[in-house]
Amino acid sequence: MTRPKILIVEDEQPLVTLLTYNLETEGYATTVAMRGDQAADLVHEERPDLLILDWMLPGISGIELCRRLRQRQETRTLPIIMLTARGEESERIRGLATGADDYVVKPFSVAELMARVKALLRRANPAFAADTMEAGDLRLDRVTKRVHRSAREVKLGPTEFRLLECLMKSPGRVYGRDQLLDQVWGRDSEIDDRTVDVHVGRLRKALTSLDERDPIRTVRGAGYAFDETFGRVA
Ligand code: CA
Repeated sequence: MTRPKILIVEDEQPLVTLLTYNLETEGYATTVAMRGDQAADLVHEERPDLLILDWMLPGISGIELCRRLRQRQETRTLPIIMLTARGEESERIRGLATGADDYVVKPFSVAELMARVKALLRRANPAFAADTMEAGDLRLDRVTKRVHRSAREVKLGPTEFRLLECLMKSPGRVYGRDQLLDQVWGRDSEIDDRTVDVHVGRLRKALTSLDERDPIRTVRGAGYAFDETFGRVA
């Protein structure tokens, strides 16, 4: 299963360790930035699904970073949970006005933060929480790991399953080969780009073995996308 990616922006090492451990245990992939300016770069490189953002940071502050992210088209709706120290609560309004989606005051209960992460991800992208995803005659079940086209079961290897799951999660979004490598194989994999093409080829072949319509779009020079028009009545 493709794991939602969370960027933790926090300069207190013990808290970073605690958050990383708990988020990974919950099944999320994590990346850490300990400076605000470093986080700005990482957001564009990593395209996280959610940001946990500390208020006070070296480099640029959490508030300033939040404000900048909200000004950019591609991060305007990125889910952000802001962390603040006690005593900064009076600034709560300012934090929300800056565009954070949620707000947690330190010291906080880890369980509560995890619940908020889950809720916010679900609100931002219902596909993260759904057991099944459907488009047209295609249905992917995350619990049973089965894929069907109408009544026909499509036999997929684990890699092809994760590829389809990743693409289907955001119909229309074009994923570069490097992004697919990162999301499907993991960032540390030593696999080259052409492997992505091979697996997409296998996925396509399995999905269209009865000459059904191909739901995957190849975008020349860019990568692959799940066709957002797939399943719409023509
Ligand atoms: Ca801090």
